[in-house]
Amino acid sequence: MSNVDWQGKHVTVAGLGVSGIPAARVLQGLGAVVTVVNDGDDERSRAQAAELEAQGIAVRLGDGDTLPPSTELVVTAPGWKPGKPLFAAAAEAGVPVWGDVELAWRLRGLDGREPAPWLAVTGTNGKTTTVRMLAAILEAAGLRTAAVGNIGVSLLDAVLGEETYDVLAVELSSYQLHWAPSLRAHSGAVLNLAPDHLDWHGSMAAYAADKGRIYEGNTVACVYNAADPATEDLVREADVEEGCRAIGFTLGTPGPSQLGVVDGILVDRAFVKNRQKQAQELAEVADVDPPAPHNIANALAAAALARAFGVAPAAVRDGLRAFRPDPHRIEHVADVDGVAYVDDSKATNTHAAEASLAAYDSIVWIAGGLAKGATFDELVTGCAKRLRGVVLMGADRALIREALARHAPEVPVVDLDRTDTGAMSEAVREAARLARPGDTVLMAPACASMDMFVNYNKRGEAFADAVRARAAESA
Ligand code: ADP
Repeated sequence: MSNVDWQGKHVTVAGLGVSGIPAARVLQGLGAVVTVVNDGDDERSRAQAAELEAQGIAVRLGDGDTLPPSTELVVTAPGWKPGKPLFAAAAEAGVPVWGDVELAWRLRGLDGREPAPWLAVTGTNGKTTTVRMLAAILEAAGLRTAAVGNIGVSLLDAVLGEETYDVLAVELSSYQLHWAPSLRAHSGAVLNLAPDHLDWHGSMAAYAADKGRIYEGNTVACVYNAADPATEDLVREADVEEGCRAIGFTLGTPGPSQLGVVDGILVDRAFVKNRQKQAQELAEVADVDPPAPHNIANALAAAALARAFGVAPAAVRDGLRAFRPDPHRIEHVADVDGVAYVDDSKATNTHAAEASLAAYDSIVWIAGGLAKGATFDELVTGCAKRLRGVVLMGADRALIREALARHAPEVPVVDLDRTDTGAMSEAVREAARLARPGDTVLMAPACASMDMFVNYNKRGEAFADAVRARAAESA
């Protein structure tokens, strides 16, 4: 598919930003006539536009909705909503729309090298963790690989850069999948499916359908979560290459064509000679950091993809042992006065928060932020018994407060009516006041951070700073 003749092709790049700027540069380098359109017209975008214009790339600021008349292809930033008028205009004009992943996929092999196959991971939660685990396993197997996509290295760099890879561990978001119609991964995994980003996709069905695209055209394995039937449904609906198998992962004893757990051991009953009778030991639960149930599930999914690629069992074990989680994902910050403080700032939706709330017995929960259309009844019902207290902050905290009033009226709640940067210190102070020795203060907000912080990293750092300040005071 990379044999598009780019010379003189009129391409409109939608969105200045992390994907748009490199895409514009690459396309211009290939000889295309590139115009970037962007909604914003602020100081930053003007500076970026000036740089691109100096290289001969046209930029239209403050007008992301008008399709330049000669456009033959639109390459969009993944976050642009499908309902935007620009896409209606493209559809009307019969102009295809590609996202950043589609562009990278089509440019594979452009330089004559054999393109590396992709092992692709999506899901509502656990993508980054699983892709990093997968890359660690592939590395342990001696393969040249990288964790790419919605994480670390961009796909364009991985596909066009100097480095040669044997295989890529690719994280894909639902947005990226939406705009990647011709992607065909070697094998793909959907880790789980829970309502998220519904404001963008329009409905749960549309969100699931976009996630399900990861299975299209898989050649060896479609990996699904046996505990989440919706992921298996997506495998059934996918159009795959002949001989491609559905491979499940489960925290219980695996059936044939599944990976699972038996007596604290991660085992493979899928990629073994006689799967009716045999299972292959891969690693111990204790090899996974942290060994919380949701993270064992991530490890099994990573192992399934690696095994689909032919990796030996010992490399699965070595890779999992070498893996360390990224910051702000159930990260233990400090113990102060017998209370553990844990930063799970990356729990930006209820499904993620549910996983970390399930990992502790007695919790003071710090929550709140931007709810993105979520409801909290189920989450609160599931953890009510384990809550010592709750500290709420952020724009949509009333939604959580109301769910607590309905399902856990006896749990003390502190409602912080402030959104300035000092709010996190106060939240930690209040949490410390509620906590008893042996408790865990868990910052797993179940919400996005952008109402108060630049991103979840900054939110996590603010929490860790406040905890360390407390530790210093109490020392
Ligand atoms: P993603 O890249 O999908 O956002 P991460 O690996 O960064 O996923 O983890 C995000 C958050 O989701 C973590 O902080 C953790 O609380 C939670 N999480 C991780 N794996 C799972 C899982 N398999 N199921 C549910 N929640 C998970």
